[in-house]
Amino acid sequence: MNVLARLKPEQRPGGCDQPEVLRERGQREVFCGLTGIVWLHRKIQDAFFLIVGSRTCAHLMQSAAGVMIFAEPRFATAIIEDRDLAGLADVNEELDRVVTQLLERRPEIKLLFLVGSCPSEVIKLDLSRAAERLSGQFMPDVRVLYYSGSGIETTFTQGEDACLAALVPDLPEASNDTGRSLLVAGALPDIVEDQFRRLFDALGVGPVHFLPPRRSGGLPPVGSDTQYLLAQPFLTDTARALEERGATRIAAPFPFGEKGTTAWLRAAADIWGVDPSRFDDVTRSGRERAIQAVGRYRERLSGKSIFFFPDSQLEVPLARFVNSELAMTLEEVGTPYLHRDHLADDLAELPEGVLLSEGQDVDKQLDRCRAAAPDIVVCGLGLANPLEADGMTTKWSIELMFTPIHGYEQAGDLAELFARPLNRKGRLRV
Ligand code: SF4
Repeated sequence: MNVLARLKPEQRPGGCDQPEVLRERGQREVFCGLTGIVWLHRKIQDAFFLIVGSRTCAHLMQSAAGVMIFAEPRFATAIIEDRDLAGLADVNEELDRVVTQLLERRPEIKLLFLVGSCPSEVIKLDLSRAAERLSGQFMPDVRVLYYSGSGIETTFTQGEDACLAALVPDLPEASNDTGRSLLVAGALPDIVEDQFRRLFDALGVGPVHFLPPRRSGGLPPVGSDTQYLLAQPFLTDTARALEERGATRIAAPFPFGEKGTTAWLRAAADIWGVDPSRFDDVTRSGRERAIQAVGRYRERLSGKSIFFFPDSQLEVPLARFVNSELAMTLEEVGTPYLHRDHLADDLAELPEGVLLSEGQDVDKQLDRCRAAAPDIVVCGLGLANPLEADGMTTKWSIELMFTPIHGYEQAGDLAELFARPLNRKGRLRV
């Protein structure tokens, strides 16, 4: 039983019809936004991410990405040395030198991100001006942009949000003559992008563009005729930037599982006036495969309780998926930030009385988790080992970012991610 006293309806921040939210502002256990580089550098194939940071940042990236030293990865860290920190060296001059060397050695780079870190922010290094200066020097061959991946007030998926938001001002203006277009925002594996593209084509929804693009030369156009769908729930700044360019968000739940994917596709199909029978025909086989694939895990997971610590910002849509498609019981759904508009459709599908928490006070949350004794805990790497030592079964939330989980064809894999730790536990038990 969850020992936390539930808030009374009249105490709920949004009123009686809103789910209760426990807001916490204590110590947090999250990765920083640099982590997003691990999947973003694979997605944009001619981009390079130059972190301006410390050896700690370099170690984080090296271990998170598992890069072999003789590989030519498309990210690196320009280390801020003691001389820079002490103000003895001109950091801007050093940065210009490093960037020049890099671009001379790697002519295939067409888009360079300068990625800020805690150290660059602490010494107030103005990387946005540096990016402007370097862009002026290297355009039209190389575009240089800046975003922050620092761990000061961020959670790890905010790195992708900051990166995509930095791209938006550079998107070409959509021509008014071409009419309405769909933009899918959020980095998706190429295979998932191709599946969605085929479905939208079959529905007659389009033209469809994706942000980020696979190559920097393929930046999608945006304008007042752009309707956009979020593929990831953590793109607050990107969404704001797209709306400033005139785009309109299509309200939808996130495309996880059969129900989420169907509702996400239908939201776009409705805007394009797709006939319901055509929608059913186009999506039928995908829906059936997803239901069957998820069904294989439903029996194993039905009735199992789950506790989400706040980490990836995927927690609310995933809670919707595990509850409505796998019949799991939600003990607590923690999320670093709760964007009520973007999450409205997923929030509406959560069971009444579920405890939502926003932010973190990690010790208190650990106490609640231990008291609830859930069958599975979804959390960051830093909490997984102590919880496993307490006898709990954990799933690293970062795995949900590294694994293709969107859409019909990945619905079974997504369900399996929750079943696997329980299977492992069962095998270890003697
Ligand atoms: S950006 Fe900050 S939190 Fe992230 S690795 Fe570097 S020093 Fe650590």
